[in-house]
Amino acid sequence: MPIIVLDPGHGGRDPGARGNVLTEKAVNLQACLILRDLLQQSGVTVLMTREADRECVPGVAEHVDLKARAMLANAERADLYVSWHYDASHDPNVHGVSVWIHPSQRGQSAYYKADLLAYKIAANTGQKNRGVYLGDFQVLRETMMDALLIEGGFITSPQEEGQLVSEAFLRRQAEGAAMAICQIVGVAYAVHDGVEPMAVLFQGAEIAEVSRHA
Ligand SMILES: [Zn+2]
Repeated sequence: MPIIVLDPGHGGRDPGARGNVLTEKAVNLQACLILRDLLQQSGVTVLMTREADRECVPGVAEHVDLKARAMLANAERADLYVSWHYDASHDPNVHGVSVWIHPSQRGQSAYYKADLLAYKIAANTGQKNRGVYLGDFQVLRETMMDALLIEGGFITSPQEEGQLVSEAFLRRQAEGAAMAICQIVGVAYAVHDGVEPMAVLFQGAEIAEVSRHA
């Protein structure tokens, strides 16, 4: 079974970006806990860099903590590293989803995985797809497998922050991400909650319709 390391950005002393009401570290964790469950239900092994409001290694300097997050993935020989963040801008009109990869991965497999991930999240939420960006982030630089860093929207956009306060919206983001990650690691997305049973019912109705006309 594929192994992915899921990294809710920031935590503990490091709040990340701040909106009017939301703090990035808390939303990162909330979205990642939903995503963890969706991936596990699909048979993916998920290792989390944190599962509470804390650093990966409490009490160390930030660059040491970031190194520990990358080293977890390297030590476990993970198939994919996914870091989850929300962005900030001085312009309150800037919004949308982007996925970042290390500049050395331009045109490599990580680029196509990032492109799929951004597309699936945006498609499942109706957010703007800002596409793939290159960034020399430590967790992208120090991981030995393909590594993707999601910026799931702008916490500084009143419109997007208004969506991010909703757990249902975070679930739609996580669903989009889970579908992309399952495709990337080559497992079927198989989640049995709300969404799929409705699709199955619809399929059944179609079959009934066909048999009546047959
Ligand atoms: Zn962040």
